[in-house]
Formats: sequence, structure tokens, C-alpha cells
Amino acid sequence: MKLHEHQAKEIFAKYGIPVPEGKVAFTVKEAKEVAEELGEFPLVVKAQVHCGGRGKAGGVKLVNSIDELEEVVSKLLGKVLKTFQCPEGKPVNRVLIEKATPIDKEYYLAITLDRSRSKPVIMVSAAGGMEIEEIVKENPEAIKIEPIDPELGLMPYQARELAFELGLPVKEFTSIATKLYRIYSELDASLVEINPLVLTKDGSLVALDAKLDVDDNALFRQKELEEMEDESQIPPLEAEAKKYGLNYIKLSGNIGCMVNGAGLAMATMDIIKLAGGEPANFLDVGGGANVEQIANAFRILTADPDVKAVFINIFGGILRVDRLAQGLIEASKVVELKVPVVVRLEGTNVEEGMRLLKESGLNFITAKDMWEGAKKAVELANRGG
Ligand code: GDP
Ligand code: MN
Repeated sequence: MKLHEHQAKEIFAKYGIPVPEGKVAFTVKEAKEVAEELGEFPLVVKAQVHCGGRGKAGGVKLVNSIDELEEVVSKLLGKVLKTFQCPEGKPVNRVLIEKATPIDKEYYLAITLDRSRSKPVIMVSAAGGMEIEEIVKENPEAIKIEPIDPELGLMPYQARELAFELGLPVKEFTSIATKLYRIYSELDASLVEINPLVLTKDGSLVALDAKLDVDDNALFRQKELEEMEDESQIPPLEAEAKKYGLNYIKLSGNIGCMVNGAGLAMATMDIIKLAGGEPANFLDVGGGANVEQIANAFRILTADPDVKAVFINIFGGILRVDRLAQGLIEASKVVELKVPVVVRLEGTNVEEGMRLLKESGLNFITAKDMWEGAKKAVELANRGG
């Protein structure tokens, strides 16, 4: 789960990481009130979207007067901001208004989990700012990565070494890095990032941008963070799926997949690729799905215009195959079927499930195993698209 920059900055401030003075606004009127409260210009107006690359896309603007502020804020609010990181765009429904910081130099600082090392890592770079992606692509050495022992946490000597390397004020940098690690571990973050971490003209350090992604699997114990989620930033079909307890992730291909269990989901993605196709999504109905959930899953799957064929690959264990069949039959009463559906069913009550499907008169294509199902789905998707 992602937080907005203004939310992450509020958390940073609580932990003692210096951030620019500022406040979020949802309307032009609120933005002007914030500007008055801050009492000086220049100010920075920042579109709050779950998407990086705002600076390059016109989502971060310096303003020098109340009129300019009004103009910039009214243009941003209500707009869909497209950046190179989110070509589909995200709606801007709030802006952060901040006192502008006089920048001397921009740095990069982040903590995330490195799965290959099975450890958190701290990453720093003297090439912070909007060009970091390009710079690191050409010169991976520009970013320094230091593993953190999760039993010990980030040790002050590690932070000091990094500060020396970057030529940053040691005490200040160590304090920020240590606090950032506390946030990472106490809030179950999957990523905390400050880009840019700014050295100001008067020699102090400020987190000019803030990113905080929370591990979804920890949300059960991070209720306060969970409540902060801005659902307008989630793709509509993903939000819809979440409502019904379905695990849905949009991908870039053209085969919609309905599966049960994450393991089978991944195997299905693999086998579709092996058959020369590309999955359009990852939709896991879970082990205990009921008829209503199956029906909703099917509706969500077919609502995606990229989907040219559907592959239903179910192994009925706890989820009985007859119940799945009932869900599909229910769903097809309300969803107009525009694409071919390939079904591979196996497991508990499979005969009953197959019988129900056959008697329903629905035009589903059956496959005897996963490989056959994947090949059929790929062929049909390519023909349809
Ligand atoms: P992002 O592009 O979405 O990562 O947005 P950032 O918050 O990182 O802002 C992009 C860039 O805008 C930064 O790298 C800075 O160069 C610039 N910027 C943001 N806030 C300020 C500010 O207060 N003062 C100045 N001078 N530049 C700023
Ligand atoms: Mn940034």
C-alpha cells in the first residue's frame, strides 16, 4: 500500500526527520489558506499522486504570488497527471503546499528489502533528484548499497561511513538515516525513500520528497496506516476486486486469468508465457471463494478491454469445483460474454462442476490439463486481438 507524500512527510516529521514546512489542501480555497498560514513566497505546489516523476510532468511548481498559486492549484486539481512512471495517469485530488527550500545539492536515500540478500538495504547516491534513474542505468556505481542486519538494525557506523562517502554533515545524516530505518521497521514498510534529500544553502539536510510503501501483509497490524489509503489512486478494477476480497493485479498482456491460490496463479502466468502468450492480470479468488466472489471475479476479469480470452484454471481443494461452476453460471447471467473462455478444472467435485457447466449451455471451451488450456487461451487471444 502506498501513502501520499504529505502523509509520509507527516510521519517523517513525527520521527524527527526534517521536512519543509507545509500542509495539504483539497481545494483552491484551502490552498490559499495554507499559503496565508505559511506567510511567505516562494512556495512549492506539489500534486499528490501515487506516482513518481511528477517534477518532469509538471506536477511540482514553484509559485511567487497568491495569484500564481491560485492558477497552478486550479490547473492541477481535478487533472489526471501522467508521468513516465505512470503513463496511464493518476487523478490529482489534493496538493501539498510547502515553503520553497533553497537547494545546494540533491542526494538520494532509501531503505528497502533486498530479497536476494534476505536483508534490508540502505541505498545512497550523490546523484539524487529527477535524473537518478538515467544516471544509475548508465553508471550503477553511482548508487551505494549497504546491507543491514535485521537483528541489529542500521548501525550508526554504517550511516557515518555513508555520510563520509557522500561528503554530507555526519551527525545530521546519521540521525536521518537512523530515523528512516526506524520508520522502515516499525511501520512494516517495503520502501522508504527520500529523493531528493537536499543539502540546503545553509548546510542543513531536508527531506524534500518522501515515499513510504507499506507491506500489504502487515496492514492487519498497521490499522492507522491502512486508514490513510487514498482509494482514488488504485486502478478502479483493483479497488473493485479488493472490495470483494479478491487478489487482482493488472498486467500488460491479453489473457485474463482466474485461478485459486497464489502458487497456481504463478504457475499459470508461467505456463501462459511458455505457450507464447502474455497474462492480462493476476486474479486469485483464494481458497474459500463463494459463488458471489466467483461471479464478481468473472465480471472484473471481463471488464478489462485488454482481455481477449479468459483462462480459468482451478484446482478445487477447499474451493469445490461445483461451487466455482455455479459462480461462473451466475456471472454469465449478468456479464455479457464477448471473449472466449477456456476452462481447466480439477479436484473436489469436478464431475459435478463439469456437468453443471455443460447443462448451463454456456459456450466454454474445456481443457483436460493446464498445458492444453494455456495453448488454447493463447491461440484464441491472438486470434481475437
Ligand atoms: P518527483 O519528481 O515526483 O520525485 O517530485 P519531487 O518532490 O522529488 O520534486 C521534483 C524536483 O522539484 C526536485 O528534485 C527539486 O529539484 C524540485 N523541487 C521540489 N521542491 C523544491 C523546493 O522547495 N525548492 C526548489 N528549489 N526545488 C524544488
Ligand atoms: Mn522525488
